[in-house]
Amino acid sequence: MLDYKKFKIKINALTPIHIGNGDVYSQLDYVFDKTNKKVFVIDFNRIIANSSPSAINDLTSEIKKNFGNNRWRGDVAEFFRRYKLDWEDFVIKEIPCENVGNNEIHQFVNSTGRCYIPGSSIKGAIRTALIYNLLSKESISKNIQEIIHDDRIKAKYASDSFSKEVFGNNPYYDVLRTLIFSDSSFGNIDDILVKETVLLNLSKTKQKRFIPLFLEIIKSNICYEQTLKLDSQLYKIPILKFNKEISKIDNIIGYSNNFSRSLINKESEEIKSYEILHKSYTKLLNNLRNLNENECIIRIGKGGGFFSKTFSSLLEADKLLKIRKRFNIFSEIICNKHNSKIMRNHYCPDCRRKLKNNKDNDEYHYEYDEVFFPRTRLVTFDNGKPSEPLGWVKLTFEENA
Ligand SMILES: [Zn+2]
Repeated sequence: MLDYKKFKIKINALTPIHIGNGDVYSQLDYVFDKTNKKVFVIDFNRIIANSSPSAINDLTSEIKKNFGNNRWRGDVAEFFRRYKLDWEDFVIKEIPCENVGNNEIHQFVNSTGRCYIPGSSIKGAIRTALIYNLLSKESISKNIQEIIHDDRIKAKYASDSFSKEVFGNNPYYDVLRTLIFSDSSFGNIDDILVKETVLLNLSKTKQKRFIPLFLEIIKSNICYEQTLKLDSQLYKIPILKFNKEISKIDNIIGYSNNFSRSLINKESEEIKSYEILHKSYTKLLNNLRNLNENECIIRIGKGGGFFSKTFSSLLEADKLLKIRKRFNIFSEIICNKHNSKIMRNHYCPDCRRKLKNNKDNDEYHYEYDEVFFPRTRLVTFDNGKPSEPLGWVKLTFEENA
């Protein structure tokens, strides 16, 4: 007999969310209407299918001519007009957008054009929160020793040993199998915006230029629904680590809020000099304080960066630094002669050559910024200013009768 506890989960976007599907709209996949502030996504393949062979030839050579550095030079709408192609007949959807320049747009995960929040996104966030709460100090130290001293461990897998400590080696006996999240309901077409985001650099040297990244996002204050089934048979299996802890939804809620509180506090401190962005964090902290018993806040999708995707936030600064040094991650490479930052491939523009990597290396060294790590944060950008972090959602659990 199946024995499930079922919950309805309301997902409320507290800040804009982006969960990418890995695809982009290239500059030829849309026309931006500046006056009406809209992006019209067009079906370029259908345009091609409706053109004569000679027109396609001209078209492809002109496309080649217009692309430089993976960027389209010129006006796409004008280009279609010149070829008497009525792009308006090939519009798939229109998305509100303040500004997109001439940039690629990263797509939100969707099924035949309708956006949704994958269950795996929610589960992944909860998984990280569980590790943050359940991993003991002793096992953290033990794991760090192993990672630092075992040359065979690759950076990509470094965090695996932490998760194995909580969830075990055997996926069959992974306690997370007891949590079954559905994908969310489909959103409405007008939940989505094309939004400018920037990678904020928090290192000590002042940022000269913000590099924009354009994303399809779900606006804040939009609500989605999904279901969670807790498999109450499975979590009775004693071999599952932490089965008792995870069998209670109250614990999952508590663990999630613990983890989010530490993240939000930490990030809020780091971005203090950006006034508007800092206000969004203050709002998030207020949200955390005013939650009901059946509510938690987590972060999903793009924008969380290293700290919420892995769980290095549970490491003390000195231990984290050891791990960074072990893998040379998030470091700067400095030319010894010029004391200047050089490229990842060890090319020094001042020496005009690649610096040598020999045993007793005296040509370059690594430096680790210890104040803000990692140094970059992806945030939305409004009126020339960083304004909101991405991905924070409130989950409300309602037990079904
Ligand atoms: Zn040099």
